[in-house]
Amino acid sequence: MKLLQERIRQEGLILSDKVLKVDSFLNHQVDTGLALEIGREFARIFGHQPITKVLTIEASGIQFAMATAMVLNVPFIYAKKKKAVTLSENVYSVPVHSFTRQETYQVSVSQKYLGSSDKVLIVDDFLATGAALVGLVDIVKEAGAELVGVGSVIEKSFQEGRSLLENKGVQVHSLARIASMKPGEIHFIEDQGR
Ligand code: 5GP
Repeated sequence: MKLLQERIRQEGLILSDKVLKVDSFLNHQVDTGLALEIGREFARIFGHQPITKVLTIEASGIQFAMATAMVLNVPFIYAKKKKAVTLSENVYSVPVHSFTRQETYQVSVSQKYLGSSDKVLIVDDFLATGAALVGLVDIVKEAGAELVGVGSVIEKSFQEGRSLLENKGVQVHSLARIASMKPGEIHFIEDQGR
């Protein structure tokens, strides 16, 4: 998605060869017009399938899941992150290790809102190590629902997330794929005509 790549080039802060900050338009202040375009793009890519729910994880995936779900005219669910490993009943729950924070969270979704008749599109802001998205894939499996695919806004393609998901048979689409980066320099894997 050219528009997104341009914004990353203009406003992204590359803190190291692994960490990109996009707080001015995606992760802290949100450009709502861009978020809506992102939602439209995910709906265009995946919308030919009969999606019933969009699933993300709090907090930074919420605006993109909401934009996508609004275009598809379906509800979205954000999985909740808890530090405590207290498992309540009636939730699907998986542990997710955050490599950026070096902490393990319990991620959960109420069984009320996801079930075996659902066809689910997962959306998140970043695909890096893949831990968060693999956790959501496992929740969809636990619910017995059908997974349509995973849409990530930014993929750091030099990290292992995409291959982890593809090895599980998941269809992955990322709107900006970063081949490599270092402070002052960023290279994208060219998308096909988008
Ligand atoms: P994972 O490593 O599980 O794929 O990424 C988990 C989460 O960490 C992402 O959803 C995103 O919120 C955050 N994250 C990972 N890498 C980056 C990065 O380079 N920049 C920002 N802003 N967030 C990141």
